Amino acid sequence: MNDPNCIFCKIARGEIPAKKIHDDAEVMAFHDIRPQAPVHFLIVPKAHIATLYDAQPAHQAALGKMLAIAGRLAREAGAADGFRTIINNGRVGHQEVYHVHMHVLGGPQPLGPMLARK
Ligand code: AMP
Ligand code: ZN
Repeated sequence: MNDPNCIFCKIARGEIPAKKIHDDAEVMAFHDIRPQAPVHFLIVPKAHIATLYDAQPAHQAALGKMLAIAGRLAREAGAADGFRTIINNGRVGHQEVYHVHMHVLGGPQPLGPMLARK
C-alpha cells in the first residue's frame, strides 16, 4: 500500500512538503514542483500504485476520483477554459516517478501539441 522510499508516498504521509490543493482518504492533488504550464498540478492516489500496469480492481474508486475531481480543481487553479490530463507510464511513457499520477495542465493560452510531430 505504501512504499517507504516513494516520493509521492512521502508527500501522502506528510514527510515532505507539497503545495496541496486537495486531500482526502483516496486521492490528493498538489502543484508540480517544475511546472510546464501556468497551471500544472498532479492528482495521485493515496495507495502506492507504481504504474497503470499495476492497477487492480480495488483501485478503481481512487482512479475514477482522479478524473472526477480534475475539472473542479483545474477551474479552481485558474484553468477555466480548458486543460489537458496526462498519465505517463513506464519507459516509453517517460515516467519519472513510479507512483501513478495524473498531470493537469492549463493555459491561459492554448498548450502546444500533445506530442511533437516528427
Ligand atoms: P512523470 O513521472 O514523468 O510523469 O513526471 C513526474 C513529475 O513529478 C514531474 O513533472 C516532476 O516535476 C514532478 N515532481 C517530482 N517530484 C515532485 C515533488 N516533490 N513535488 C511535486 N512534483 C514533483
Ligand atoms: Zn508511492
